[in-house]
Amino acid sequence: MSLSSASKPPVAPTAMTTIVTTDLIGITRGRSFPTDELESYQVAGCGWVPANSALTPQGLVAADNPWGSFGDLRLIPDMSSRVRVPNGPDANAPGMDFIHADICETDGQPWAACPRTLLRNEIQRYRDDLGLEVTAAFEHEFNLGYLDAANSHHAFSLAAQHHAASFGGWLLSALKAAGVEPEMFLPEYGKAQYEVTCRPIQGVAAADRAVNVREITREIARQMGLDISFAPKLQPDGVSNGVHLHISLQDQAGHPVMYSAQESNGLSALGRHWAAGVLKYLPALCAFSAPTPISYLRLKPHHWSAAYANLGQRNREASLRICPTITIGNRSPAKQYNLEFRPLDATSSPHLSMATVLMAGRLGIEQKLALEASADEAPDDLSQEQRQARNIVALPGSLNDALVSLRDSKELIAQLPTLLLDAYFAVKAEELKSTQTMSPVELCEHYARLY
Ligand code: GLU
Ligand code: MG
Repeated sequence: MSLSSASKPPVAPTAMTTIVTTDLIGITRGRSFPTDELESYQVAGCGWVPANSALTPQGLVAADNPWGSFGDLRLIPDMSSRVRVPNGPDANAPGMDFIHADICETDGQPWAACPRTLLRNEIQRYRDDLGLEVTAAFEHEFNLGYLDAANSHHAFSLAAQHHAASFGGWLLSALKAAGVEPEMFLPEYGKAQYEVTCRPIQGVAAADRAVNVREITREIARQMGLDISFAPKLQPDGVSNGVHLHISLQDQAGHPVMYSAQESNGLSALGRHWAAGVLKYLPALCAFSAPTPISYLRLKPHHWSAAYANLGQRNREASLRICPTITIGNRSPAKQYNLEFRPLDATSSPHLSMATVLMAGRLGIEQKLALEASADEAPDDLSQEQRQARNIVALPGSLNDALVSLRDSKELIAQLPTLLLDAYFAVKAEELKSTQTMSPVELCEHYARLY
C-alpha cells in the first residue's frame, strides 16, 4: 500500500516569535522560533554573535571591531516587552510577535556593549543616585509613498490625510494592539511626509516603544506595498524627518520635578541643571543621536530641527525645547511639562541616544551646572558675539566632527563602557569610509533605502 500525499494533513505556516535586539546603529535584528516553544526560550534566550554589533548600515562588519569571529552571547527576552499584532492589511501576512532582549554573556552576566542594558543601568542610576524616575516619548516623522510623484498634497492637509487614511487606520490599530499607546497620525509639512506620536512611558519601555513604532510602521507599509523611509533627508534640499525625544523627571512619589510655577519659563532649578548638562555635551551627544553622514544635512538652520546647542521656549529651532503646557479646562502644567530633545533622527539607536542624553543631564545635575545657553530668539538670528556671550555653540557640521567632539568629551566618555565605545567608533569609521565618495544626492538615496 502506498502512502499518497493526499492522505497527509495540510501544512500551515508555523507561528513564530522573534527575540530581538536593536543594535548600536538602530537596526532591529533577532532570531525566531516556533511560538509554542516559547517557554523553553524564556530563561536562557537564544544565541547571538558579538560581531553582529559591529555591522554598519551598509552591512559590512567594521574592520577594527573588538571581536572578529570570536565569542558567543545570549539574547535574553524581557517578557514584559513582548509585542503582538495579530493581523494587518495583508490577510495572508503572519502577525507580528517579537520580544525585546538584553544581551548577556553565556553565564547570564550583562554584556558591556548592549545598548538596552546601558539604558536600563542609567535609569537605575537616576533612581539610586538622584531618587528620580524618567518618563519619555519619541515622535517619529517619515516619508510614505514618496516615490510616487502623484503623492503631493498641501502640507498638513485633509487631502494628505485621506490619501494615507487606510495606512493610518491600520497603523493606529496595530500600534494599539502592540501596547504602544499611539496618540496621533498626521500629515507633516513635507511632500508625502507623515508623523506618528505615542504616549510617554517610564523607563526602558520608552525606547522599546520607539523601536516598535519604527518596526510596525514599516511592516504596515510593506503589507500595503508602500515605500517608506525614516531617513533624515530624502533630498539634500528637501524637508527633513526628525525624531523628537520628550523627557520629564519625577520623584519617587511621582511628582514632576522639572517644573516650577515660580519661573517664567517653568523650568525648575533641577531642570536647569539637567538642561545645562545636555547642552554642555550636545556636540558629543550628536555622535549618537545624529549618527550618519546625512544627519548633518538636517542639523542646519531653518530646518526646524536644531543647529545650535541652546534651550528655547516653544522654539522648534532649539536643540532643547521647552514644550507648551495647556491650561485650557484648568489642566495642571506640572504634569505636562517636559523638555524636547530635537537633534535626533531615526538612523540612531533609541536606547543608546536616550541613555547618553540622560547621562549628560545627570552630569549636569551632579555638577549643578549653570544654564547659560538659553535663547528665546532663533539662535541663527543672533550675532556670533551674542551667541558667544550666552555660550551657545554650533552643533557639529559632520559626523566626523561629532565623533571628534565625543572623543574629546572625557567626562561623558567615562560614563560609557569601553567595549561599547570601541565598537561604536569602529562602526562609524567603517561607515564613513564606505560613504566618503558619495555626493549629498547619492547619500540621500543610499540612506533612504537603509532606514
Ligand atoms: N521636520 C522637522 C525635523 O526635522 C520637525 C518639524 C516639527 O517640528 O514637527 O525635526
Ligand atoms: Mg513634526
